[in-house]
Amino acid sequence: MKVLILGAGPAGLALGARLKEKGVENVTILEKESEPGGLCRTRFVNGKAVDICGPHFLNNRYQDVLDFVFRYMPENEWPLFQRKSKNLLPDGQMIDNPIESNLWQLKWEDQIDYLESISQSGSNRGEPMPERYDEWIYWKMGKLIAENYMLPYNRKLYGRLDNIGTYWLHKLPSVTFRQTIMSCLDRRFYGEHGLENGVYYNPKLGIGEVWKRMADSLKGSIRYDSAAESIDFDTRTVVAVDGTAYTADVIVTTVPWTSFRQIRGMPEELVKKISRLGSRSLNVRWVNETLDTDAYWVYCAKEDLPFHRATLQGNFDPSFPGMLVETMEERLDMYGDTYKPIYSYTTEYAYPMNLIGKPEIMEEVLSFAKAHKVIGAGRWGEHVHYNIHEVVKQSLELADELMK
Ligand SMILES: Cc1cc2nc3c(=O)[nH]c(=O)nc-3n(C[C@H](O)[C@H](O)[C@H](O)COP(=O)(O)OP(=O)(O)OC[C@H]3O[C@@H](n4cnc5c(N)ncnc54)[C@H](O)[C@@H]3O)c2cc1C
Repeated sequence: MKVLILGAGPAGLALGARLKEKGVENVTILEKESEPGGLCRTRFVNGKAVDICGPHFLNNRYQDVLDFVFRYMPENEWPLFQRKSKNLLPDGQMIDNPIESNLWQLKWEDQIDYLESISQSGSNRGEPMPERYDEWIYWKMGKLIAENYMLPYNRKLYGRLDNIGTYWLHKLPSVTFRQTIMSCLDRRFYGEHGLENGVYYNPKLGIGEVWKRMADSLKGSIRYDSAAESIDFDTRTVVAVDGTAYTADVIVTTVPWTSFRQIRGMPEELVKKISRLGSRSLNVRWVNETLDTDAYWVYCAKEDLPFHRATLQGNFDPSFPGMLVETMEERLDMYGDTYKPIYSYTTEYAYPMNLIGKPEIMEEVLSFAKAHKVIGAGRWGEHVHYNIHEVVKQSLELADELMK
């Protein structure tokens, strides 16, 4: 079986490595960049491991994923951390994440206002759930959380919100109003947050190390600086930027559908729909400044602060000065002379947008492609906000399926 994989991020590498483990030798991976890892790349700057597309942590949820990953970088090289993250509100108060479970950390008078506001939300008045994300925020959390935190934070992250759907919200922490009241009375967290899992992270090596090692195991199969430029469904051929054509029995694409210059053999109407898929870029900069907290991550809703998230590397490794801040490209001008970067990197494809209508488009694209033995996988192949453990799990399962 001849398999062509597009993209050497976690999804493409895990698939290639698993197929090799199973004895499939005829695997080629085309990668646009000159190094492996995709969004999970690390560079050494002043001797420190900087995850250039944003700090990344490996969730410990799936044992089969951990067993696989630890074959390439043993468990004893991955310190396990408990999640500690905070929200910085526009008035400067900092409370644990998620906000609805931790209002008890606010000033007492504020707690009453927030609780009253949640009690008046659409969800607590029995109104039907809206289909737009911005309207859903008001409906679910009430006016105060919406306007003081959720809307400003999300505007910083996604820009426009009025075209985002609600089909993906199972990913957010789920906290009922009753649990919010209980947390205020009992002065502790209540709710389903999904944050109880630990995360593996080696602050000395960064997330990139495991993918470098996995890529080493695939030496000879990966073509770097080889962006796939066109794909032809009829002949199952991909042409790379240097003009080389690759034909395979199966093509697995983990790259953004919008990154192909040409898509041949797919109905024109469907190609047009692909152009409606949205994505967001991201700048990550390492700065000397830091925030006064023992949390690892701080989500910042304050709109006059350019970045929306800060990771305090010094709380993982005290010898790491400053913090890594994440900012949408459109907001970079706001820095002016502040937060001078020690290092700065912008990645074009960071977030697949959950636009209204996306699931229908992707269902059509993926089923058309699959019928032609072209499989969309990973964060971009499916255009879903998958995390590492999810894309690796999917690749392990896909390898099994391809072997049938
Ligand atoms: C800021 C940020 C923080 C995150 N933090 C976490 C975290 O802490 N934990 C976690 O589990 N997940 C995290 N994620 C998600 C994580 O980045 C993804 O789950 C993971 O990178 C998905 O892997 P992938 O291989 O599907 O995609 P990618 O990593 O995006 O890899 C795609 C690859 O395709 C290549 N490519 C693109 N176009 C072409 C082309 N035309 N031809 C050939 N190659 C191409 C790219 O260069 C890249 O190498 C985070 C994401 C972001 C944006």
